[in-house]
Amino acid sequence: MRIEFHGAAGGEVTGSCHLVEVAGKRILLDCGMIQGGREAEARNLEPFGFDPAMIDVLVLSHAHIDHVGRVPLLVKRGFRGPIFAHAATCDLLPIMLLDAASLAEQAAERSNRDRADHEPDVEPLYTREDVEATRKRLRPLSYNEAHTLLPGVSVRLHDAGHILGSCMVELREDGASPRTLLFSGDIGMRGTPILRDPSPPPRADLILMESTYGDRNHKERQATVAELGSIFEQAKADGGNVIIPAFAVGRSQELLYWCAAHFDTWQLASWRIFLDSPMAAKVMGVYDRHTELFDAEAARVWRGRVKPFELPNLHISESVEESKAINRLHGGAIIIAGSGMANGGRVRHHLANNLANQRCHVVFVGYQAQGTLGRLLVNRVPRVRMLGQEIPVRAQIHTVGGLSAHADQQGLLDWYGAGPAHPPVVLVHGEEPARATLADELRRRYRCEVTLSQAGMVREV
Ligand code: ZN
Repeated sequence: MRIEFHGAAGGEVTGSCHLVEVAGKRILLDCGMIQGGREAEARNLEPFGFDPAMIDVLVLSHAHIDHVGRVPLLVKRGFRGPIFAHAATCDLLPIMLLDAASLAEQAAERSNRDRADHEPDVEPLYTREDVEATRKRLRPLSYNEAHTLLPGVSVRLHDAGHILGSCMVELREDGASPRTLLFSGDIGMRGTPILRDPSPPPRADLILMESTYGDRNHKERQATVAELGSIFEQAKADGGNVIIPAFAVGRSQELLYWCAAHFDTWQLASWRIFLDSPMAAKVMGVYDRHTELFDAEAARVWRGRVKPFELPNLHISESVEESKAINRLHGGAIIIAGSGMANGGRVRHHLANNLANQRCHVVFVGYQAQGTLGRLLVNRVPRVRMLGQEIPVRAQIHTVGGLSAHADQQGLLDWYGAGPAHPPVVLVHGEEPARATLADELRRRYRCEVTLSQAGMVREV
């Protein structure tokens, strides 16, 4: 087995993409979008480091766009094989990709409007037709079921506890000397509501392991939830809005879950809660279709009085008009909107409208990659330039790390340690110094061999 690293390598956390050559065939693990500012995102248009037509099979770890965002481009450029993923990922994928396609089409339209007549038209990264072609290739799998991908090569998915349908991918090559590769995908945090805890790693000869939070530990989840409650309380006293940039899948549902669980103690009945996302209703439909994946506590909450997706004052804004109407509210609104790193999506309009207002509270609940607006705000820059205007940042910015969908350093170390042996590790999906710190800790605790991935690096198993 031979692995080539094509994305989320060399100190990056987006664009996940690894090529495995096994038994004379090529299996691609993830095909994610590169995110984080215009320069980084321009790289999405560049040729892949391999010929898409030569890939036999694609396996996806989960539906986040930094893991699947370039799949329609792969299909557009010649990939003709099957795409394997967990059944819930197969349900979420078209929702995520259609949104990405319409953003790509809008971006291309914008740059064509600004171009001089003699310049050639810009093509969108991909279109809704490419997403449709992608959808036809999806092959849903369940957790823990061994499936033959190619002659002599099987795959088994394990619950990664990161978002609905997220998995670790175990690839096994049979034969005289069988080899097993485990790709961790994104590893969830133990105790994440709704989801089950991440499965321990199965036996493997090599682990490709994420390292996003390799150098820090999250606050206790309960302390974070209490902090969220006190931010709502403060915002109520200030009379402003609360804006929470959040991924449409995962974090948005978790936020609604906590709102339902603390509806009375946080006095949420006096707020108007907006989930401003055209995708939200569809994503919640997927959750409702996959309640068999919930943990016991979520099953109990779903049977309770205030159901997370049916809060009495929850407004789901699907149309642009509904979204714009929120702009007229200068206080009393909790607005959950994407994107999670504020580098796109409707949340930018809400931030543009509220950042200059010191009564407004902005709450970051997830990782903010370098180059994103979210990262700038978390770093407390005094002003930002967005949507063609310069805006002073007077709003109160909060970072509540304990709601992360990613395991922290302790979680990553415990996960690795829970395996039956301590095989070599290649760290992917981490910036510096997170991955270097995690590498040191893994070596120190488990005396295992750890390598930091670099783009284009090759590793034999
Ligand atoms: Zn993810």
